[in-house]
Amino acid sequence: MPEPLVKVVDLKKWFPVRMGFLASLFKKQQLWVRAVDGVSFDIYRGEVLCLVGESGCGKTTTGRTILRLIEPTDGKVFFEGRNIFELSKEELRPLRRKMQMIFQDPYESLNPRQTVFDIVAEPLRIHGLAEGEELRERVIKALEEAELRPPEAFLDRYPHELSGGQRQRVGIARALVLGPEFIVADEPVSMIDVSLRAGILNLMLDLKERLGLTYLFITHDIAQARYVGDRMAVMYLGKIVELGPIEEVIKEPLHPYTKALLSNVPVPDPDARRERIYLKGEVPTPISPPPGCRFHPRCPWAKAICREEEPEFLEVRKGHSVACHLVA
Ligand code: SF4
Repeated sequence: MPEPLVKVVDLKKWFPVRMGFLASLFKKQQLWVRAVDGVSFDIYRGEVLCLVGESGCGKTTTGRTILRLIEPTDGKVFFEGRNIFELSKEELRPLRRKMQMIFQDPYESLNPRQTVFDIVAEPLRIHGLAEGEELRERVIKALEEAELRPPEAFLDRYPHELSGGQRQRVGIARALVLGPEFIVADEPVSMIDVSLRAGILNLMLDLKERLGLTYLFITHDIAQARYVGDRMAVMYLGKIVELGPIEEVIKEPLHPYTKALLSNVPVPDPDARRERIYLKGEVPTPISPPPGCRFHPRCPWAKAICREEEPEFLEVRKGHSVACHLVA
């Protein structure tokens, strides 16, 4: 097995629960939202690892913490063998160029007062990498790579003059302009028209091949994950419950939560017969996750042990790991 490009080890990100004055008088203990609560996985060079789960499961926080856009509570993230959490801001700067993010919302993530040129040029200016004619050339090249053609026609436009798909392409150009190796793409097509989604996904796959990129692709949509992904990690309430080759996980899911997610994905064949798994109740709060297996209050197959002991995340087939007492 080659060395991973990104290695995530027992990553945790907890947010303090803000309490009002009166509540803080009576509650002695600080409460925490355990958004990411001990996740470990590797991402290999040139692959697309999809992080899948319901909203609120901790996917986005995982992606942002890996890039150190937010500081971790605990754990390690190695990029090319260096733990980025141990690096000073100065030491982190050259690595930042190699690790970029494509944000979910192209309406929110672009400054409405900046032109496309300034938006895409900003990372180059911040890192002091180009100015003058070279800056313009590099911006034009990034816009071309994002298939905004002709690129010169977009330079002086503002985000409100662009369609949703064009805005997301500007976001992609901004991520590409520094020549990254690793990109966290957080639900990159969920806010744009369905008719434009395939174009953006195909562009991302094409860029992966041409520029040798590696992606962590965050999505709640299993069909999208299947379209772009090589491996899939399924997240539930701050933990990864299953990880493996994407076709294997989709065709032979092992964890009850993965089975439930997949049973509710629409299939295009009206005659296809399959058993839907309906989960009871809501996702519990990450402030006080259930003891034992976090999925036990909703799991149709929960046993007594599930309420008491947290299942280990174990490799049960080559490259396919799962956290469930019934599978291990
Ligand atoms: Fe269900 Fe128990 Fe497996 Fe958790 S450990 S997923 S509760 S069977």
